[in-house]
Amino acid sequence: MKVLKFGGTSVGSAQRMKDVAKLITGGDRNIVVLSAMSGTTNSLVEITEYLYKRNPDGASEIINKLAIKYYEHVEELYQTSEYKQRAKELIAYHFDYIRTFTKDLFTLFEERVVLAQGELISTGMMNLYLNEQGIHSVILPALDYMRTDKNAEPDPAYIKEKLHHLLNEYKDAALYITQGYICRNAYGETDNLQRGGSDYTASLIGAAIHAEEVQIWTDIDGMHNNDPRFVENTSPVRHLHFEEAAELAYFGAKILHPTCILPAKLNNIPVRLLNTLQPDARGTLISNTTEKGKIKAVAAKDHITAIKIKSGRMLLATGFLRKVFEIFENYQTPIDMVTTSEVGLSCTIDNRKRLDEIVDDLKKFGTVSVDSDMVIICVVGDMEWENIGFEARIISALKDIPVRMISYGGSNYNVSLLVKAADKKRALQALSNYLFNNESVC
Ligand code: ADP
Ligand code: ASP
Ligand code: MG
Repeated sequence: MKVLKFGGTSVGSAQRMKDVAKLITGGDRNIVVLSAMSGTTNSLVEITEYLYKRNPDGASEIINKLAIKYYEHVEELYQTSEYKQRAKELIAYHFDYIRTFTKDLFTLFEERVVLAQGELISTGMMNLYLNEQGIHSVILPALDYMRTDKNAEPDPAYIKEKLHHLLNEYKDAALYITQGYICRNAYGETDNLQRGGSDYTASLIGAAIHAEEVQIWTDIDGMHNNDPRFVENTSPVRHLHFEEAAELAYFGAKILHPTCILPAKLNNIPVRLLNTLQPDARGTLISNTTEKGKIKAVAAKDHITAIKIKSGRMLLATGFLRKVFEIFENYQTPIDMVTTSEVGLSCTIDNRKRLDEIVDDLKKFGTVSVDSDMVIICVVGDMEWENIGFEARIISALKDIPVRMISYGGSNYNVSLLVKAADKKRALQALSNYLFNNESVC
């Protein structure tokens, strides 16, 4: 059994839904994970923002606009009046439910319920469409098996048990459809796996059923060697190691949610990135093996803050690093990059919420300076330290760009560099030109 996940763009219109239906039928009895139709979760977020601000009229305007779009999709997607009627009832049910929240107190609890409606609608619509086509598909309700614990981490034992129970209940189904992103938390409330979390749903299901493969279908032919939203002439990478993919996802390659790799890696389940718009393209295979001796790809993580602690004394004495890191831990702020010298230490964070308190506490160790609006550029590949010349090529490519920090040797898979946000595009393009497109540095 495989798990096939289709993102928002892949189910973003009636025609796209029909195209996905073709891809998921006629084969094995797989589990299909769907996101909300593109733009829906953003609209739901907007609705919740109005409701938090006690502006029910603003919320209602967006709810009505979104509902109209869905009724248009219904007209285009279904052929028979029976199924058009059933789909309209489905949509009316979910939008009436969202409208009930415009009248009462609005808290985090209600917010999560509103955000869950997008995936509930898209899976309901797809299931009805497949049934209209004579396919015996069945919905596996994510709220019945996908669960997080008190630390907001998925509970693999619970997920496995409940999922197997559901699969047993619907043994004769031709295909299973389920919602990405949504779950219940440890208190049984509706919750979610964070924005973009449908990829995580797919790999958690893959791990729970020991799937043959997890396929992430999106709008591009696999992981490109640089971010196609900022860089020209990018091309697909055909094979990545789990570790390489995890670094790229964490450091900004939006095609994959960073959490998605771990469950697949731990269970050694290959992940394949494929293109709904070009189903025959090869895409990218992510597995436990890697192509040796190659730089594979570059990604960038935005909104980074660098903090430097500098002292005239012997700073790196025993226990110093622990004391510094404890301050970040006390304020629940994870650190991304670290570089050290005898008299100082630089590190980066992407969550500035407790920055002022952190800086105040760090001041007892020396002078503290902060650089905001920075970007981590992460270069990924087989960076085994005995391979010669990779670091030199990366640094040469960036010869005209000021680099604030460089980190290498933390893993065998990456070199990370910190530059100003204003230099991000230039740095990414320079790396692509020199590392992948055979331009020379003059
Ligand atoms: P989905 O809605 O299917 O989950 P996403 O928008 O989350 O799709 O991810 C796909 C997008 O990721 C692509 O359209 C592309 O713009 C962006 N992207 C960023 N970096 C990369 C990369 N290195 N390779 C491929 N796509 C990337
Ligand atoms: N629909 C959710 C989002 O837009 C989850 C996902 O698409 O993965 O973030
Ligand atoms: Mg995504």
